[in-house]
Amino acid sequence: MTSQTLTESLPYLDPELPIAARVADLLDRMTVEEKVGQMLQLDARDDLDDHVLGRHVGSILHTSPERIVRANELASQTRLRIPLLVGEDCIHGHSFWPGATIYPTQLGMAATWDADLVEQVARATAVEVAATGVHWTFSPVLCIARDLRWGRIDETFGEDPFLIGELASAMVRGYQGRGLDDPTAILATAKHFAGYSETQGGRDASEADISRRKLRSWFLPPFERVAREGCRTFMLGYQTTDGVPITVNDWLLSDVLRGEWGYTGTLITDWDNVGRMVWEQQVQPDYVHASAAAVRAGNDMIMNTPGFFQGALDAVANGMLAEDAFDDAVARILTLKFELGLFEDPRLPQDGLDAVVGSPAHAALNLETARRSLVLLENDGTLPLDAAAPLRVAVVGPLADDAQTQLGDWAGGSGQAGWLDGQPREMITTVLDGLAGIDGWTVTHARGADILTLEDDPLGATFPDGQPRPPVVVPAEANEALIAEAVAAAAASDIVVAVVGDRIELVGEGRSTATLELIGGQNAMLDALIATGTPVVVVLLASKPLVLPASVSGAAAVIWAANPGMQGGRALAEVITGAVEPSGRLPISFARHVGQQPTYYNQIRGQHGDRYADLTQSPAWAFGEGLSYSTVDYSELVIATDALGLDDTVAADVTVTNTGARPVRETVQVYVRDVVTSVSWTDKELKTYRQIDLAPGESRSVRVEVPVADCSIVDAAGTRLVEPGEFALLVGPSSRDDVLLSAAFTVS
Ligand code: BGC
Repeated sequence: MTSQTLTESLPYLDPELPIAARVADLLDRMTVEEKVGQMLQLDARDDLDDHVLGRHVGSILHTSPERIVRANELASQTRLRIPLLVGEDCIHGHSFWPGATIYPTQLGMAATWDADLVEQVARATAVEVAATGVHWTFSPVLCIARDLRWGRIDETFGEDPFLIGELASAMVRGYQGRGLDDPTAILATAKHFAGYSETQGGRDASEADISRRKLRSWFLPPFERVAREGCRTFMLGYQTTDGVPITVNDWLLSDVLRGEWGYTGTLITDWDNVGRMVWEQQVQPDYVHASAAAVRAGNDMIMNTPGFFQGALDAVANGMLAEDAFDDAVARILTLKFELGLFEDPRLPQDGLDAVVGSPAHAALNLETARRSLVLLENDGTLPLDAAAPLRVAVVGPLADDAQTQLGDWAGGSGQAGWLDGQPREMITTVLDGLAGIDGWTVTHARGADILTLEDDPLGATFPDGQPRPPVVVPAEANEALIAEAVAAAAASDIVVAVVGDRIELVGEGRSTATLELIGGQNAMLDALIATGTPVVVVLLASKPLVLPASVSGAAAVIWAANPGMQGGRALAEVITGAVEPSGRLPISFARHVGQQPTYYNQIRGQHGDRYADLTQSPAWAFGEGLSYSTVDYSELVIATDALGLDDTVAADVTVTNTGARPVRETVQVYVRDVVTSVSWTDKELKTYRQIDLAPGESRSVRVEVPVADCSIVDAAGTRLVEPGEFALLVGPSSRDDVLLSAAFTVS
């Protein structure tokens, strides 16, 4: 018998055996070094040979197209030939694969409020990702948007736990497909568990000062939902809570996630969480203690802490960890690999993947998603513009023709991957491209303003762990010559489309902002353009809600396009000309001023009044808002039965009428107010919604239903329950009280 056939007769290599038996057999054959290595996920941009042959890593991330193949060659040279799990942040498309389809950011997708569409995006992403030899995406993000200054607001589904749960669940379904044996299925990751977004002052990865009750009330429900629905992996955030890093938070990991929710999936730390306990949070004296603590707390995969390898081995040598301390984690990782079938087929990059990656079908889905993600915030009737009229259109602003900025963070040019500068320009339609493509229009373009320049951080180019320190943003001065050129273009035009917003240097990890205003010369440019008297359509191409200058009250229209992806310019042109009706709704509130933070709608009742001495607390645009080109009337909200028991469902009918002259896709939003609660609670919470299409003049009775079991609060002891008493069902087009119809019901 050759050694090869010998190896092939080993039980763990026999696909006919049950997975549990294969895992047990393989575990039995592994040395402690191989087990520790199996728990490691290291950066494929570093020394791959050392990762695979020296440290026996179980997984790699950030793998360029070339290195995927090399990594697999190396894995096949190892003693047990355990295949690698390849992970990547494919969070709105296959972010760092040249030529992949890049969709609107997660926040942009959230503005569609369309779970089916989001599921399709995730499915199409999985198809592209799987074809390239990547098995695992670190998506979706279930963090709740709180302080808008946080640099990662764009990665969230916004500020509402219910909407987050709906969309995250859809995304997980899309990625994981019909099961891991489906060759187009990839592992989804619910992140960042849990409370990471409860920043202080918006500062990334600060201590999250958050009680267990608050976690149970708003932060945990979306995670609980996807845990119970089978999201295969969870990523643990960077933050500490009550002094304890999440990586070693026994209550969250053991009592809640594994215990109460019965979660059997795989846990991965965030980037160097184990090392950070030593060098950043300073809650562990060295890597030996940190590694031992991480293993004891039940982490399975350790992302990018190279020192975990020696640290964990030393912990075994000095008796802090038993030799079998790694078995549960390794068994979970191996189970994933067997379920994906990697021992039989390591799922390498496929021949002909170019036909799949960036396919025309995915571009069409992307266009539909971009259209639906656009939110019309203001319109004095100027929009839609008549595409058939011979209009002179000035397309101005620093973002009108900035293809890579349009894609946002976690995309080709956003900096996390060194092997590409951006996605192919020809795949991206900017706003200028979109409008210039309209036959019969005369389009001129002027930049009008610059946004920023960069300076080195005075503290040095890198953090203590060697990671690059983001450079310091210096706002550009308003440039009179650029403004004059833009004003001249405006004066010679029938309409101005001004595209303003933020750039990648103001977005992302370690790039929270102190302000929310438009940076650089953009405000001065808008002031000057609006003063010309030519109608100005403001397109806010911004990763997150920003504060617009006062002059914008004189604009003809305002559209928010959260980084709208590759098809964004075309989608905007279609909405501006009315080829497509605007239908996006805000998944997040917009502040009038940075000092209003936080501005989320579902805040806790009970404070002295509702305004600052010098400003209202009301947001500029509230959660759920968004206009169409038609008008919609809500009337006759009637509850079927208004006295209900705990097992009943509140059912109501509401009449929704398109009172305008154009078709409309309306998002009928249903909130519940618990009138008296045993502990302070939010004044209202979104419980369900329905999207309906109405022709001009059409009126429809819409049935909405909310199980009484969902009308719950979390009491002082931290228990979620429905408290009998009076409730109000609130139905309407947004979270603003003055547009919601109300009907009372009681629960006994
Ligand atoms: C981020 C995660 C991401 C990981 C890998 C971390 O810094 O917080 O969201 O998945 O890096 O890129």
